[in-house]
Amino acid sequence: MSFIVAIDGPAGTGKGTVTKILSKKLKLLNIDTGATYRCVALAMLNKGIKLEELDKIKKLLDSIKIELKNEKGVQKVSLYGEDVTKEIRSKEVSDFVSQVSSIKEVRLKMADLQRKMAEGKDVIMEGRDIGTYVFPAADVKIYLDADLDERAKRRYLQNREKGIQSTYMEVLENVKMRDENDRNKEIGALKLAKDAEVIDSTQKSIYQVVREITEIIKSKRTEQKLQKRIYKIRKENAWKKFVRKIVKVILRTLYRLAFRVRINGKVPDDGAYVICCNHINYLDAAAIVLFNERKVNFVAKEDLFTHGILMWLGHLFDAIPIKRDMQDIEAMKRCLKVLKNGELLGIFPEGTRHGMDKNMKAKNGAAFMALKSKTKVIPVGIHGTFKPFSKVYINYGEPIDISGYTKENLDEATDKIMKEIVMLTKKED
Ligand code: C5P
Repeated sequence: MSFIVAIDGPAGTGKGTVTKILSKKLKLLNIDTGATYRCVALAMLNKGIKLEELDKIKKLLDSIKIELKNEKGVQKVSLYGEDVTKEIRSKEVSDFVSQVSSIKEVRLKMADLQRKMAEGKDVIMEGRDIGTYVFPAADVKIYLDADLDERAKRRYLQNREKGIQSTYMEVLENVKMRDENDRNKEIGALKLAKDAEVIDSTQKSIYQVVREITEIIKSKRTEQKLQKRIYKIRKENAWKKFVRKIVKVILRTLYRLAFRVRINGKVPDDGAYVICCNHINYLDAAAIVLFNERKVNFVAKEDLFTHGILMWLGHLFDAIPIKRDMQDIEAMKRCLKVLKNGELLGIFPEGTRHGMDKNMKAKNGAAFMALKSKTKVIPVGIHGTFKPFSKVYINYGEPIDISGYTKENLDEATDKIMKEIVMLTKKED
């Protein structure tokens, strides 16, 4: 799996410099996509191919050989095996490249080449369309921007350092022309990706920008590591079963010491069921899980898994993490798998604690799972204050068959389940 950082933005925003520093600092392979377009432009100039000679361009693209190499920390660009690192920065190439990169065939070929260069690697790529076209699912997307004058000034100074002859006005015109061209390309036009972080570098030093981007990349990596741990499936084996048994006995004893648990009814000894109960306390799901001989795979909000011990317990009891406020397809797949395996799935249709008291509409997820997997729903009413030594009632109802409902009237199926749950919360004996 690759980790992709996309740095997009117009010319002269410092993308190249920032990317080089970040690549070294964070050990990411630097793929300078602009250099690939510059190579095509140079090859066309060398071979005397004009912009309108599409057949010749296509032929050139079929055989072009571009390589980006890193030699002792210095990026080298080779074209047909020859080092062209310096040539591709010449004024002739700079003036020509934007038009070359507007040719559809060139863009398709270069985007393909850039994707291949990144395959299976952790990379940082700078360009115009990395986060929007080449890698629309990049892990980090940065859009670097700066005022036009500032960008032209930077390019002018850069050119002087490299010994490239041009006046400030020439550079300004060139930057303006490239902006115009880059923003109006048919494929891969320069535009802001919806999920990109915008950084305006006009008033900032390179190091400030590097610091900001480093923070963004680091926090993304930490988040991804956590997600990986949360979603990792811990395979069932004899040891896991044994530990679960012991932990269950210990936690059940503690639970009984803290509350006077009263259980009415039970879950059938085998077969898949969706257990739906009301949610009044963090300990209500624990009651269902601990006081059932069978394993209940409970759906729990993802944030619960961020705490060490809860993550461990969640994995031990095969709880299913779910991202709230979005359609979590992965969680749904896991739920359906549980039911397909003939196991018990626990869900709070209220979605959150005291949902009913807050007049919140119950969610259709439980009814959907039951319908999709052709299983019945077991309603459970939990009732109690959860104050130390108080009574906690766990009342199981009869399995509800919702096979007569369809995807179109899931609301009604959910209403039926909720009504049963409410009735069961009133039972006290
Ligand atoms: O970044 P650099 O200035 O070297 O890029 C050269 C040219 O290549 C740009 O002016 C732009 O027209 C084109 N380019 C592109 N898409 C990219 C990178 C560069 O169109 N991803």
